[in-house]
Amino acid sequence: MHNDINHNLLDGWDTFYMLFLFSTQKKKQQYMDIRKMLEAHQLLAEFNYEVTQLDKGYTDKVLHINISDNTCKIKDVPPVMKEKFIGGKGYGLKLLWDATKPDTRWDDPENEIVISAGPVAGITQYSGTGKSLVVTLSPASNSVTDSNAGGYFGPFVKFSGFDAIEIQGKAKSDVIIVIDGTKGTVRIEEAPQEPLDSHVLSEILTEMYADSEESKHNVSVITTGMAAEHSWVGMMNFSFFDKKKNRVRLKQAGRGGTGTVLRNKKVKAIVCKIPGVKGNLNNVVDLEAIMERGKRFNKEIRDLDDVQCQMRTKGTAHLMEIMNDYDLLPTKNYKYGSHPDAYKIDSEVWKSRFRQGTPDGCWIGCNMACAKAVDPYIVKTGPYAGENVLVDGPEYENAAGLGSNCGIFDPDYIIEANFYCDTYGMDTISWSTMMAFIMECYEAGVLNKERTGGLELNFGNGDAAIELLHQVARGEGFGKIAGMGIRKMKEYFVREYGADPNFLQDIGMENKGLEYSEYVSKESLAQQGGFAMTNKGPQHDEAWLIFMDMVNNQIPTFEAKAEALHYFPMFRTWFGLVGLCKLPWNDVEPANNAETDEPAKVPEHVDNYVTIYKAVTGRDFDKKRLIEDSERVYNFQRVFNLRRGYGTRKYDAQPFRAAGPVTLEEYESRAERYDKQLKEQVGFDPAGKSTEEKQKALRAYRENRYEQLLDAVYKRRGWNRNGVPKIEFLQKIGMDFPEVIEVVAPYQE
Ligand code: SF4
Repeated sequence: MHNDINHNLLDGWDTFYMLFLFSTQKKKQQYMDIRKMLEAHQLLAEFNYEVTQLDKGYTDKVLHINISDNTCKIKDVPPVMKEKFIGGKGYGLKLLWDATKPDTRWDDPENEIVISAGPVAGITQYSGTGKSLVVTLSPASNSVTDSNAGGYFGPFVKFSGFDAIEIQGKAKSDVIIVIDGTKGTVRIEEAPQEPLDSHVLSEILTEMYADSEESKHNVSVITTGMAAEHSWVGMMNFSFFDKKKNRVRLKQAGRGGTGTVLRNKKVKAIVCKIPGVKGNLNNVVDLEAIMERGKRFNKEIRDLDDVQCQMRTKGTAHLMEIMNDYDLLPTKNYKYGSHPDAYKIDSEVWKSRFRQGTPDGCWIGCNMACAKAVDPYIVKTGPYAGENVLVDGPEYENAAGLGSNCGIFDPDYIIEANFYCDTYGMDTISWSTMMAFIMECYEAGVLNKERTGGLELNFGNGDAAIELLHQVARGEGFGKIAGMGIRKMKEYFVREYGADPNFLQDIGMENKGLEYSEYVSKESLAQQGGFAMTNKGPQHDEAWLIFMDMVNNQIPTFEAKAEALHYFPMFRTWFGLVGLCKLPWNDVEPANNAETDEPAKVPEHVDNYVTIYKAVTGRDFDKKRLIEDSERVYNFQRVFNLRRGYGTRKYDAQPFRAAGPVTLEEYESRAERYDKQLKEQVGFDPAGKSTEEKQKALRAYRENRYEQLLDAVYKRRGWNRNGVPKIEFLQKIGMDFPEVIEVVAPYQE
């Protein structure tokens, strides 16, 4: 049973079908299957609207879709929301706060998924201008989470007339939401037949909703996958059609379980379609100024990328040997920071596996073009064994997390696991860190073959690791437990297996319920704060201070570290407010950057951003105001956590593995360094002491320093000793809405 809308689509399809689809028998069968899938769609609701054109980067409209009762409405953005929250993550947080109550659960229908790109997103004259932010209540942390994604979806939503979309409610059966900016319609369609796996579903829906073969790049799709149904770490894939490769590519909103929320709502996919990208769709104030900065930056990339980070040929995987050389590459659940076999998965390996010579920007106009892909790759295991696929990545986090952190130095395993994480809709960072934790538990005797259903999950066993990933996706066997995430696994192992809770707390690399991303922070106190003091949990998008702190010793005092833990999280938050990618900020630097006053801030690029933001919005703006805009939203997110029962000092505690050696073998592996530190920094003479005594003394020292760091950072951020923003500070920064003050008032000292 289908409807008029879909009849129309199908009629148009016949010509399309005749013209393009008979190239091979396989292709023909594929399109017949797609046609059947489309015929099975049932229109649940259709909503017509007039597409609002962008003005200075904004439409000032929000699309609210409720899939419980299949209603849509368009809300105006009040001026105060625009002024205080800017866009992107700011809009997501504000809309989610208004839509939920303090005790709303992640799987309640009233939880929302908010997607917003920000005012700068969608320009094409500067690199890295297509990011959007997903904000929702997280199954992992039970609090608010945010995750950014590339791909075309965010800008397309803007070009379809909306600064943000909110998806609330829970459908009765699987639905696809179609936002059609070419016609000004929103449709909610029951879609029973399409498979869930992201790489297949994205291809199908791109074919299904593109007006022609030539316009596939005007369709972007959000999907997740089977693992998002069966685990707590599901992620969302945002697509873009790569014309040169003639394939659909995927970029991820990875962190915090966004895909798990999407599937819990029974949303199979969200499609957005536009007439095309050309000219000045953001209707910016000063296009010339943006173009001038864009040209200057493009020259920088052309001249310097090959001698600096090689992002265009290796992507972020260029970091592999750098991290290994500085003892920062997580190895065997973050016990170690390097490994003799690391060369087997270093950046030269990835360069040789990535298809070179085609542009790899995840948004139009990005000349940094770091979205590298292994193409083709023949899958070895699971439901797609033998198929030729494109694998987006591996990026650094995947190569380090799936590889060295699990003791697996096999590029094919990493590509295979990366592919399946993506197509199953599973956060590769969380999965890597969970797998590393499981492997250490296995080797420590917390787990055994009986408990894992026969899987020998020692470090290095890629065959067992990939089988466990398939089990998670199918919701079977030990996969059901593994998919819960580290926090819940810790509770389960203590309850069911009598494991030592202190040991699991020490080695389980999570904070606030979110798994750590892939850097060893043991020798950088500032980065320990950069991970565990984050609003959503330990993701490096707030601060990456290891080089400033550990390598260059630029922030030796608590005050200097606190200043860095104020500036950088605020600065980086801004990317997520306006729709920018962080990578072009400091993954290539001007040739004279080292000679500037503050090289870590990359002043010339900050000036580019100030210029571009002013040129898009026409707002009075400078680098000081940039930090102030972020500071308001950052503090609002902290208060949002507090409103949900978190957001105080105790939630900024870190597992000791992030700060120092937990086990004796870990201490012994760096005994010379630790002994020296005991003598010179702690005033403890290691001579004649047992490893146990030395480890205990070092631990006490490091734990004390972390507490001192919290004090210093809270003070710098305008918070009290419990980590709660002070009322007078909130008033000063202009985040003193009555509902915000009401939340913090009981926590003032
Ligand atoms: S730098 Fe990389 S991740 Fe950022 S927009 Fe460009 S291609 Fe995408």
